Amino acid sequence: MIQSLARAFKEHGVGPQQPGSPTAAAAAAGTSASDAVRALVPPAALADSRQTKMTVCGLELEGVSISGQETCIIVPRAKVAFDIGRCPQRACFQQTVLLSHTHLDHVGGLPFHVATRCMLGLPGSRVVAPKGYAAGVRKLVEAAMELQGSPPIEYEVAELEAGQDMQLPSGYLCRSFPTTHTIPSQGYVLYSQRRKLRADLQGKSGEEIRQLRLAGEEVTDTVEVRDTVEVTVEVTVEVTVEVTVEVTVEVTDTVEIPEIAFTGDTTAAFLGSEAAPVLNDALRARVLVMEMTFLCDNVTVEEARGKGHMHIADFVAHAHRFQNEAIVLIHFSPRYKRSDILESLATMLPPTLRAKCVPLLNGIE
Ligand SMILES: [Zn+2]
Ligand SMILES: [Zn+2]
Repeated sequence: MIQSLARAFKEHGVGPQQPGSPTAAAAAAGTSASDAVRALVPPAALADSRQTKMTVCGLELEGVSISGQETCIIVPRAKVAFDIGRCPQRACFQQTVLLSHTHLDHVGGLPFHVATRCMLGLPGSRVVAPKGYAAGVRKLVEAAMELQGSPPIEYEVAELEAGQDMQLPSGYLCRSFPTTHTIPSQGYVLYSQRRKLRADLQGKSGEEIRQLRLAGEEVTDTVEVRDTVEVTVEVTVEVTVEVTVEVTVEVTDTVEIPEIAFTGDTTAAFLGSEAAPVLNDALRARVLVMEMTFLCDNVTVEEARGKGHMHIADFVAHAHRFQNEAIVLIHFSPRYKRSDILESLATMLPPTLRAKCVPLLNGIE
């Protein structure tokens, strides 16, 4: 995993150092911020790069996310795009769009997604929105279609409330969890599903389980079904039919594994509900994609909360909650250069948290 994170840092490179970067924490710690960045990134990677893909824990991700401009995170394995502020070409090939909320930088590209899939002859877009927002999302798409003079296009918009399951065509199970933004918002967890030996059979030998399976196949029962048939002479005849019913013994359970989680825009307050099972799954998903809009003291923690966004100080304060193998940080404010972002992460995150964080820097100079 560490190797893949190092590769992700390398793939995204580091631009030239900018004056006025947030270096206060580094100074306080007696280290140079640029030294800390260089410790993270091999010198060969210091040249800028415009890679659009990253691989984190074996999972390929692609997309762009800049606060107020556009967010779209594509997960080809799950055939999902999380949000669609504009519509990168590859997003069109993911049938499912999971919307965290309906700010324009997260939903503006949806008409392109719907129209392009139709033009390419692909199955209609499947869009998931927070509760109460499906009708508004349809209006957005239909207004664009009307302006285009386009004939009706097949697509679906569904709402997914907390506690509901949605099976995706890619085989993943999707659930939502509440987040805290300036309008109603939610994050998503995608689960893989695997068959596992039934809990009460754990510890039994292979031979015992084989015998159980065999027993299951051989257990049959004979059921006598009695029916009456009326005939024209008004004589009632009893008919007896023998039916054999096979009884099989199920020896496996389905286990759900949280693989990928996405927060969308949120303050750190979404972490407050410790009892929420889907939130807890998000915090132990192998890969968590989380917003990190503000990184410096020019915007205080309180101001960040007021704007509905995460501040790096709030992230550090909740470091113990994140059990993920990797955290992809997105949605940085456009005020930051990529060198600012890397310096902040290198100097402000404690080492254990820093080791699992990868910034998505596509489109950031
Ligand atoms: Zn946003
Ligand atoms: Zn927003």
